[in-house]
Amino acid sequence: MMQQYLRIKSEHPRDLVFYRMGDFYELFYDDAKRAADLLDITLTARGKSGGEPIPMCGVPYHAAENYLGRLVKAGVSVAIAEQIGDPATSKGPVERKVVRVVTPGTLSDEALLDERTDNLLLAVNPGDGRFGIAYLDLSSGRFHVLEIDGEEALAGELERLDPAETLYHENMLAPFVTARAGARSQPAWEFDRESAERALNTQFQTQDLTGFGCAELTLAIGAAGALLQYVKDTQRGQLPHIRALRHENRQDSVIMDAATRRNLEIDTNLTGGEDNTLQSVMDRAVTAMGSRLLRRWLHRPLTDVAQLRARQVAIRSLCDNYYYETVRGALKGVGDMERILTRVALGSARPRDLTRLHSSLATLPQLRAELARCASPLLASLSTGAGDYPDLVELLGRAIIENPPVVIRDGGVITDGYDEELDELRRISTGAGDYLLEIEQREREATGIATLKVGYNRVHGYYIEVSKGQADKAPPEYIRRQTLKNAERFITPELKEFEDKALSSKSRALAREKALYDDLLVTLNEQLGALQETAAAVSEIDVLANLAERADNLGLCQPEFCDEEVFEVVAGRHLVVEQVLEEPFIANDTLLNDTRRMLLITGPNMGGKSTYMRQNAVIALLAHIGSFVPANAVKMAPLDRIFTRIGSSDDLAGGRSTFMVEMTETANILHNATPRSLVLMDEVGRGTSTFDGLSLAWAAAVQLAQQVRAFTLFATHYFELTSLPEQCPTMANVHLDATEHQDHVVFLHNIQEGPANRSFGLQVARLAGIPAPVLDAARYKLAELETGAAQAPPPPATTAQPPAQSDLFASGEPHPVVTRLAELDVDGLSPRDALQLLYELRSHLD
Ligand code: ADP
Repeated sequence: MMQQYLRIKSEHPRDLVFYRMGDFYELFYDDAKRAADLLDITLTARGKSGGEPIPMCGVPYHAAENYLGRLVKAGVSVAIAEQIGDPATSKGPVERKVVRVVTPGTLSDEALLDERTDNLLLAVNPGDGRFGIAYLDLSSGRFHVLEIDGEEALAGELERLDPAETLYHENMLAPFVTARAGARSQPAWEFDRESAERALNTQFQTQDLTGFGCAELTLAIGAAGALLQYVKDTQRGQLPHIRALRHENRQDSVIMDAATRRNLEIDTNLTGGEDNTLQSVMDRAVTAMGSRLLRRWLHRPLTDVAQLRARQVAIRSLCDNYYYETVRGALKGVGDMERILTRVALGSARPRDLTRLHSSLATLPQLRAELARCASPLLASLSTGAGDYPDLVELLGRAIIENPPVVIRDGGVITDGYDEELDELRRISTGAGDYLLEIEQREREATGIATLKVGYNRVHGYYIEVSKGQADKAPPEYIRRQTLKNAERFITPELKEFEDKALSSKSRALAREKALYDDLLVTLNEQLGALQETAAAVSEIDVLANLAERADNLGLCQPEFCDEEVFEVVAGRHLVVEQVLEEPFIANDTLLNDTRRMLLITGPNMGGKSTYMRQNAVIALLAHIGSFVPANAVKMAPLDRIFTRIGSSDDLAGGRSTFMVEMTETANILHNATPRSLVLMDEVGRGTSTFDGLSLAWAAAVQLAQQVRAFTLFATHYFELTSLPEQCPTMANVHLDATEHQDHVVFLHNIQEGPANRSFGLQVARLAGIPAPVLDAARYKLAELETGAAQAPPPPATTAQPPAQSDLFASGEPHPVVTRLAELDVDGLSPRDALQLLYELRSHLD
């Protein structure tokens, strides 16, 4: 048995092998240690190998799904070796075979999937700084390819797609790929273009890949080939639901890098949870398919204005007369068709999948009737695309009982009256008693033998028993079977036939049922393509109705896309902050245009700078999925990219300091932003010393406003930067205000033109619990500093003129602040160091 085990294990060195033994799946050696650890189950031992006990652990087969779920969540793949031989007849160990490999990225079982998120398998193929990506959602059959330049873009795509499993070419070294959970290195030949192309053409039954618009994408096709091969290896069967390859053009979407996706908290908040995210506020989809589609939209905003406008019209028409409510009502009958269809294609659909598919298809006419009232070409075409399946509805309704059991194995799934043969078999197995009484009655009357009995015994089967005295009355068709002391037992052709049927009827009924069920799957598979399109259309209708509901209930407005270079928001709000606030949210305007490209945002900490910046990015993002947005009015040029550089923490895993992360992200923005980009810069330069940081922030601001000319919101605590607009006319100062009330600071949260004129750092520090003596000392130093000239930044190498050099350290008479500090002689600090210390202290308090 161990030999057999080791042979199977050698074919699956990277997977855990679940080795079926009776009612358990057992794991051995290192697999056992790993599983015991991951699943928190007891590690035992069995037998010995080389004098050492063999580590072993196991899980009961009926609870295997639960354990599998936990393992794939941890990014582990499991090969399931079942007993395929018959234990009663086999000599030596029963034959076992791996029947499937469950991997994190190739799940289709309902129990193992998260209903509202996509589960993706991704393959990445590098070449000369460029990357080919292929990704597949096996549970829906969606299969995409794209090619991108540079690691930054790759990181952004991984953040967007968040694959459960990543196959990478063995030459990939970047740790953000290789260290992902569920990452797997694949040999180079798996990515070979020619064999990839052959395999893809076989899968899609095409001559070549030009029809998919991706024939030029050598790297991506290599990745797609490696991915397809992997799925075939793990699924061990046909994949008829994977019917096409789509080329995803990066230019079609508003590009966001990995940091931006995280900062905007699209579907994961900064602490890794799912609450208080854009998805959590926006997702009111009726179907799980709708939720998943909305998430994809939020992660891939579009640049095609025509398409966005079509969605806007659809949302507006759904808002008319609250039509979205009735549409959403109709959608309640729709199940997760997308995933059900995949299980139909893979032959693993369960009876309840079919009843849900039935109710889904049955609601289509009502859905169409509701949509007919909306004046939107997009909805009209989706409604047509959803199709109509009266025949399938009739068939499924007739075939499957209303509340079928979970599995087909024990029968009871197909309705009575659907199939004559099945009915007959069932009648025999369940109605045997009645039938025998009927024969008995009939035979008594025919023969006139009142004591005639029909009976059964295990050796002779069914018989008609007649007492010895009456035996001569038996008609000629009675065949003698057994003679007893007082009675004769007979069989008739009718009874013989009944016997054959009855004894096997139960197992035959089950087999018949299974065959009928498989026929149903075949019938459904014949229309698989159309049904998949229906699922896609219904999902989109769901998302549009969802967006209409949100527009209505959250008070959103329809944004206007225009050709002018403008980003104008009237009374904009932050969707998530607004939800969690107890007090009312203060709406704020934003105006950026060709002559006003950058807003320098100042104001006290906690004043609302980050909220203000993010709300504008979220408005832009929502507008680019076609949604209405949280504002009273919005007018904007379509954007090509959204960037955010918002306070980051150390990237310890990647070995980069806060400052390094900050500078890498800033460099990416300076390289890639365009006049059509929206850029958010929060507190650039905070990660290093004051002078360094200020200089870098200064130079980055000037570059962005004058060379890159991106629409930029630039929040800073370096007050010195507020003098920039005097030299750069495309910059403007705005600030968030606060007032003091009885020695307390009250944040007004409203944005106003001009720079902030006071620092509320000390008040904030007091709120944070800094002890009074420290605050007093700080206040003293602050007053002292403010009477002297503020330290100016060194001149940056830009076209804008920096502010005049301070005379703090000019030769000649020392400045009074310097003199004063020198008098203090704090532990021998030089005045310059002391001043920098205070300066930093102040900016930190700020
Ligand atoms: P900053 O970036 O200036 O430090 P934040 O944007 O983090 O400030 O805002 C601090 C807090 O102020 C937020 O958590 C929120 O509670 C509140 N806040 C911010 N903006 C507003 C607003 N426009 N209306 C109401 N409350 C706000």
